[in-house]
Amino acid sequence: MLLNQSVSNLQGFGYLEGKYVPISEMCLPVMDLGFQLSDMCYDALHVYKGRYFRIEEHLDRFEWAIAERQYNNLNMDRKDFKEIFLESVSRSGLRESMVTIVATRGIPTNGDKDLRTCKNRLMVWALPYYSVVTAEEVENGCDIIISQTTRIPSESVDPRIKNYGRLDFVHATLEAYDRDARYALLLDRDGNVTEGRGWNIFALHGGRLISPDKGVLEGITRQTVVELAESLNIEACLENFSANELYNSDEIFLTSTAGGIIPVRSVDGENIGDGEPGPVTSRLSKMYWKIHEDDAFSTIVPYRE
Ligand code: PLP
Repeated sequence: MLLNQSVSNLQGFGYLEGKYVPISEMCLPVMDLGFQLSDMCYDALHVYKGRYFRIEEHLDRFEWAIAERQYNNLNMDRKDFKEIFLESVSRSGLRESMVTIVATRGIPTNGDKDLRTCKNRLMVWALPYYSVVTAEEVENGCDIIISQTTRIPSESVDPRIKNYGRLDFVHATLEAYDRDARYALLLDRDGNVTEGRGWNIFALHGGRLISPDKGVLEGITRQTVVELAESLNIEACLENFSANELYNSDEIFLTSTAGGIIPVRSVDGENIGDGEPGPVTSRLSKMYWKIHEDDAFSTIVPYRE
């Protein structure tokens, strides 16, 4: 089944119901509660120069999420997930790739809506690498706004479980478009900084880095930045802070598997520093890409050719 011309032209490969298929054949039945209720969780990894970055850390987070969501009948373990990751990327031939792994509740088997009767579903797909901002913005910095829309409360949907229930990000992005911007940062109901669609945020104040502690996805890139900062003797703290602290920052950057460490030029139209990527941001970014070739952080994909 070919979905449409643009998808069928994409280089990519996936895993669905026990088979490896071209990306154009990856699809989800409309009855799956992953679609109807956003009853799903996922993770996103990347491959750089033919190596997966921090596969174990991503699988720690994903396996924790499927346990929290009680997807108890996937009947797969870490060895299976890794094999599917390596095989999907190997078949795609992609040396730079974004790889998504999704678990859904599945379809109830007894005709009513009982979640306990569902056969959980697993899908994996590899696509050419992409970023949460444009390639030009990864280099030179992006502009963000602080949205009026607040993040879905953690008490309702735990943001540490990576999921596609993201209408708060959609509303915030539509607001950003109305304000001639493209990227929105969301606060929580107490005015604390949280995150944006696909990224965590860091601010540098007088040589000290801060990133929100609560109410956010615990990003693998965020964790990597904390480790890299420590190795440079830069203090990096996970703590909650308000929007006001952002405006007064020396540097701000976003972190995401899809793009790495992304400088922020302005917040709500106010320049941060001199409106250029700051020295700490640039230094961390260089280190971040360098460790991708280190065996301690990466896993080689066994390509066929
Ligand atoms: N926050 C949200 C809401 C995300 O969706 C993502 C990644 O997609 C991140 C933060 C960054 O997480 P990571 O560094 O693991 O990609």
